[in-house]
Amino acid sequence: MAMTIVYEVGDKLYVNLTNKCPCSCTFCIRHNGDGAYGSDSLWLDREPEPDEVIEAFEKADYKKYSEVVFCGYGEPTERLEVLRAAAKYIKNNSSVPTRLNTNGLSDLIHGRDTAKELEGLLDTVSISLNAGTVDEYLKVTRPKFGEEAYTAMQRFASQCKEYVPNVVFTVVDVIGDEEIKAAQEVADKAGVKLRVRKYESGDNEK
Ligand code: SF4
Repeated sequence: MAMTIVYEVGDKLYVNLTNKCPCSCTFCIRHNGDGAYGSDSLWLDREPEPDEVIEAFEKADYKKYSEVVFCGYGEPTERLEVLRAAAKYIKNNSSVPTRLNTNGLSDLIHGRDTAKELEGLLDTVSISLNAGTVDEYLKVTRPKFGEEAYTAMQRFASQCKEYVPNVVFTVVDVIGDEEIKAAQEVADKAGVKLRVRKYESGDNEK
């Protein structure tokens, strides 16, 4: 099996730390084949250690990229400590901006508030809101935590604002105008920007 720890998407370097995720999104590329963005497989036969991630950064010449994005074929906060170590390495050694693409469920995964642990390590946290109502959210993301996930994700977003300069909610444009309007209201309530992104089959922005 391949061990794709980092992969290129345009002028950005994406990081694949884990295949674990508490969700089972209907659109997730994990359900749709085993490759993305022309990389080999993003299925990991084992999860990389921090020194392996750093080695992969160096090998990829990470400083030439416009952004390093923690995303991959799973939920990066499942490996919060490795994520922190890897982001810290980037911050200590370069001025390359860092971003986390997340389902926002880190607090439920770890059973504690985790936003503070991202302080000084990330420039952007992009959280998949996915829907403007809890019912639709559950239908689309199918989190193992059930209904609690929707409020926990919003709370995580609000708390991230204290520790990360740029916090964004995302939805895809295919959810329809009504749902986008409802999502905007949720984002406004949390004081977080909403990005409506174009859905592209095969992407894994979350
Ligand atoms: S899209 Fe992201 S949050 Fe959803 S199941 Fe896939 S890895 Fe998990």
